[in-house]
Amino acid sequence: MTVDPGPDARTEDLRARLGAVQERIERATRAAGRSDRPALIVVTKFFPIEDVLRLAELGVRDVGENRDQEASAKADAAAARDAGRDLRWHFIGQLQSNKARSVVRYARSVHSVDRVSLVRALGRAVAEHRPADLGPLACWVQVDLGAPAAEPATGAGHGGAAPADLPGLADAIAGTDGLTLAGVMAVAPRGADPGPAFARLAGIAADLRRSHPSAAGISAGMSADLESAIAHGATHLRVGSDVLGPRPAVG
Ligand SMILES: *Cc1c(COP(=O)(O)O)cnc(C)c1O
Repeated sequence: MTVDPGPDARTEDLRARLGAVQERIERATRAAGRSDRPALIVVTKFFPIEDVLRLAELGVRDVGENRDQEASAKADAAAARDAGRDLRWHFIGQLQSNKARSVVRYARSVHSVDRVSLVRALGRAVAEHRPADLGPLACWVQVDLGAPAAEPATGAGHGGAAPADLPGLADAIAGTDGLTLAGVMAVAPRGADPGPAFARLAGIAADLRRSHPSAAGISAGMSADLESAIAHGATHLRVGSDVLGPRPAVG
């Protein structure tokens, strides 16, 4: 039998940081005159499962990870614990097609779909390996906001698909059994004002909704730029370090 020692210092640290981030979200949502409330996905990459369980006890339900090996181990560990059973895992990192089989076993969503070959791999994997209770896999098309509007992406870096490739990718997702098209995702270019990038993303999302009305999601906004993302219509925020503290300098 284990005795509940009560909240530890780390839990209190997480409670304070989470509360501060939630307050920022509320303030920015009000400032933007929005009546909806963006969803918060807490990015737990590089932090131990104990922190994920602490967050779950603080009411967090949605967590994000960017590496399959780490994410699958944590999802398994969490599922074995009362506190972790209700967590929803979101895959937000670059995904190799050969990891699709593993990811569909635990992830509610993949925010980083950037090529048709990955859509095909996810579709096959869902058909064969997805637990029925997870439901369809929500797919977000990651858009490279650094790429010129009319040119295909070079494939360099990890920024996602070129905006010109978005319609084809969206059609591929929407046309695949077991996948749903959730919307668009992007990371603002580093070292620049995120406002223009998020404004561009909002326009891209509006275009997408014309052909796919249910794909209303905009996954944008991290610790440093969530206010700007909310001002530009983000529906899902991916926040790591401002909740968990600075990440260990690895990976
Ligand atoms: C790590 C990561 C985040 C969270 O970044 P923070 O700056 O720690 O909030 C969000 N999105 C993606 C794709 C990430 O890899």
